[in-house]
Amino acid sequence: MVADFVSADYGWLQSTDGEQHTRLLLKVGKNCEGYFQNKDVLEHAAKVMDILERDYPQDDHLLIFDNAPTHTKRAPDELSAGKMPKGTPKGDKNWGVEVVVRDDQGKIVHGTDGKPKKTKARMRNATFLNGNPQLLYFPDNHMYSGKSKGMAVILKERGFKNALQLRAQCKNFKCANLLTGTGTVPACCCRRLLFNQPDFVGVRSLLETACTGRGFAILFLPKFHPELNPIEQCWGCAKLKYPLNPPSPKEALVEANVLDALSSIDLKLIRRSRFLDAYRQGLCPELVVWAAKKYHGHRVVPQNVLALFNVAHEIG
Ligand SMILES: [Zn+2]
Repeated sequence: MVADFVSADYGWLQSTDGEQHTRLLLKVGKNCEGYFQNKDVLEHAAKVMDILERDYPQDDHLLIFDNAPTHTKRAPDELSAGKMPKGTPKGDKNWGVEVVVRDDQGKIVHGTDGKPKKTKARMRNATFLNGNPQLLYFPDNHMYSGKSKGMAVILKERGFKNALQLRAQCKNFKCANLLTGTGTVPACCCRRLLFNQPDFVGVRSLLETACTGRGFAILFLPKFHPELNPIEQCWGCAKLKYPLNPPSPKEALVEANVLDALSSIDLKLIRRSRFLDAYRQGLCPELVVWAAKKYHGHRVVPQNVLALFNVAHEIG
């Protein structure tokens, strides 16, 4: 697997002296180098930002990522209404989020079964509309000291007086109106109501926090639309060039051929954006794919592309 960053201005990203680049080659699989995980994405992004900060400080940078779970992962203790119970747990029970146990060096601790050890931790504080923190666990001097408040109490503290009377959640969390609890739409269940609260909606991914914390803008593309990502055209081009090499069982040669295919892509191709141009014209995804194929080699698609599509498909 290859991971890299590409820019219409710089091409494949590298330091201005050519000494450092951002291309990562990973032999994925259980018995190889594992899989590209969120921590790898964060390390990769940090390296990218190091180079951009040092060598390209004159430009404003926007880092674009696919909307993939490895990119959008949130901190384990981040706000989430997903699994929170409605009430305060009874007896000795308490509620918390599941987190992986790590040692002093930050390495994951494994149990005797070989799986990562997990423990329960507190969810972090929420935020009231006025900006004040809201504790999700009862304070020390309270009769339920340290216990999770649960959704109903959290909502009641936010002014939803009927929260205790609401059901925990609608069946399978398929609420009749997804905007329930916002504006004038009445609340149907605690989970949807909490889910739609601004601080629960506004939770940032670890990647977003890392990038914006260093002054870089970040954009996640819409889900299931990797074709909007200009790097896809580069991968596509490299995949066409790679098989032109004779097949080889030797790993080193395979790797060299992959690198060769990638470096053969010129900046002109990177700057082409037929997909984006088609979207700009307001075309639906099926039409965008058709237009991108039909006008392969063109930087933009014609203005009358919809009429041409209709003629090609004998519509109208
Ligand atoms: Zn509901």
